Amino acid sequence: MDLSLFPRIQLGHFPTPLEPMANLTALLGGPRLWIKRDDCTGLSSGGNKTRKLEYLMAEAIAVRADVVITQGATQSNHARQTAAAAAKVGMKCHILLEDRTGSTDPDYTDNGNVLLNRLHGATVERRAGGTNMQQEMEQVAARMKSDGLRPYVIPGGGSNPVGALGYVGAAIELVSQAAARGLKVDHLVHATGSAGTQAGLVAGLQAVGSDIRLLGIGTRAPKEKQETMVYDLACRTAEHLRMPGRIRREAVEANCDYVGSGYGMPTPGMQEAVEMLARTEGLLLDPVYSGKGMAGLIDLIRKGHFKTTDDVVFLHTGGSVALFGYGEAFDLKGPQA
Ligand SMILES: *Cc1c(COP(=O)(O)O)cnc(C)c1O
Repeated sequence: MDLSLFPRIQLGHFPTPLEPMANLTALLGGPRLWIKRDDCTGLSSGGNKTRKLEYLMAEAIAVRADVVITQGATQSNHARQTAAAAAKVGMKCHILLEDRTGSTDPDYTDNGNVLLNRLHGATVERRAGGTNMQQEMEQVAARMKSDGLRPYVIPGGGSNPVGALGYVGAAIELVSQAAARGLKVDHLVHATGSAGTQAGLVAGLQAVGSDIRLLGIGTRAPKEKQETMVYDLACRTAEHLRMPGRIRREAVEANCDYVGSGYGMPTPGMQEAVEMLARTEGLLLDPVYSGKGMAGLIDLIRKGHFKTTDDVVFLHTGGSVALFGYGEAFDLKGPQA
């Protein structure tokens, strides 16, 4: 497997740092906790979509597109990073936002990522929750083509075999970074949504023969559905890479016990995790993904899922911009009042 054979443009700051979380480790009584800072990719406040967009935008350029179309939930971090990437390469960006939460809080509907989409010059259309968003994008693309434009459609979350290459690269980056500091990583934990991050990591870890155990914490679908999505995309990514050998189904593990009432809906565990990380490590998680991912990690630690001698890396996938759309979810009259 040779990742350098695939077209890629530079959009982010890599490698992202791998840092110890000594205070959180002490607070929770072990295992040793580390954080891989993919919230620090640099592009428009960062996040995991930057790695995917380095490959997706390279393909958009290769097919001589002049506009990219993508979709996501109202507070989509993917939409915001796509808008920034398009601005950087001089393409137009058109975003379809799906109302997946029903929130009418003006901060949710217009602040956070939505504000940044506009700042980056993207055009935005809204759709009701439950709309077939892929089909909507294709209709918009057809309309643009008849207007003489050359649209390139990026699926939600940038999750296809091209975008997932970004996380094949991230797996390789983490393995060599850990080796360089003499760290043996036992577990890697992160929030999983549209599946591209986990699928790329599964393929990448397998490609380098790593025995790191990977666990996705679900943010939308039930376990069965989430694992099937990840496994399917990991297999297609491995094919795209012409990787010998099949992806092992057992390498795909998702825990979907921390979704709460649905995608983008706050949970007490998420609120605790966001506040805990902000107050012990000075780190900003997000309410939709990394907050729920960390809530899962904290709960599993409390339940004794890990050995206290394990080294556990949490992949911070970014998203803190969405906090400004979710002020209502946090008790601002807390201990500081
Ligand atoms: C998109 C996103 C995820 C989930 O990544 P997928 O590749 O969609 O599974 C996790 N965290 C943040 C902050 C995200 O924006």
